[in-house]
Amino acid sequence: MVNIMVGIVKERLDHLLDNFDCCKCEICKDDMLALALNALPTKYVTSGKGELLGRTDTMNQSHMTNLDIIVIKAINQVSRQPNHQ
Ligand SMILES: [Zn+2]
Repeated sequence: MVNIMVGIVKERLDHLLDNFDCCKCEICKDDMLALALNALPTKYVTSGKGELLGRTDTMNQSHMTNLDIIVIKAINQVSRQPNHQ
């Protein structure tokens, strides 16, 4: 089983981070990813066809807008208080 939100959020995070002048090290990105994933519902599917169908369903427009807002919030939160050394 896979939580398809992990892959989707990772993609959005990488894309949205291009617009931010903040730290983009692996530690910060992991923190952002964790924060965003905690704020989102998990969506488990079995691998293969289920993942493809689940992604198409999840990535419709209204979901994506909401997802971006949550990812941006996570970016802002981590860049204010980064955990890296
Ligand atoms: Zn960092």
